Amino acid sequence: MNHCRHLPALLREYLFPSGCAICGRMLLDSEEAWYGLCRDCMPGFAIDQEARCALCGRPLISEQGRCLSCREREGTYHFDRVMTLFPYTGAYRTLLRAYKFGKHRALGNFFQEKLIQGLSLFPASLLRTSVWIPVPPRPGKIKQTGWDQIEYLARLLERTPQQERGLPIYRCLKRLPSQSQKELSGENRKTNLLGRIRCTKKVPPEVVLFDDVFTTGSTMDACAAALKERGAEQVYGVCLFYD
Ligand SMILES: [Zn+2]
Ligand SMILES: [Zn+2]
Repeated sequence: MNHCRHLPALLREYLFPSGCAICGRMLLDSEEAWYGLCRDCMPGFAIDQEARCALCGRPLISEQGRCLSCREREGTYHFDRVMTLFPYTGAYRTLLRAYKFGKHRALGNFFQEKLIQGLSLFPASLLRTSVWIPVPPRPGKIKQTGWDQIEYLARLLERTPQQERGLPIYRCLKRLPSQSQKELSGENRKTNLLGRIRCTKKVPPEVVLFDDVFTTGSTMDACAAALKERGAEQVYGVCLFYD
């Protein structure tokens, strides 16, 4: 733990207190301020090491290999495998909402670490060279929320101390206007986005997409389809939450 690196976060918390994103308690030391979570709430967000769906990464309950929703889905995905980390319910939901809508930016430090931990759930042999690609926001979405929270994570990943030179980020996906995925049912979500996401440059054979919430997988799927048209052979993904 690099406490010196965390000191500016403590100063910021002292001047402009935001408190713990879950319980609201005052954040008392540099580590708490860095992650935006108090020591009592932080351990509640460990990633379970349980068996996961070979496609979407949701934990498997009584199934083997693939989860029920992947089995019931018609056709295959364009991505090869996604890791999804936390259920989008209860305290987990509070956490993302505090980041997205409450602009609790310190949580970005917490999320970027979880994305990297999520990647480590893939078998090591799968990922030799990883280029990270953010899922692009829907045009107009930034106007609604006031900021691009995935781009903020991209910038943190670029500076991550886990890798000597930070992680390579490719901002190569562009999203054309389409209806909000939230307003659509599963089947319509699938067709709404295919072809509405474009890849603007050639990409390496192995890439990792990252995003906040995985619902039907249609957004990741459309991104993967675009990446495979521009040179990707294996497309993996890490998503913080599954819905
Ligand atoms: Zn707390
Ligand atoms: Zn699945």
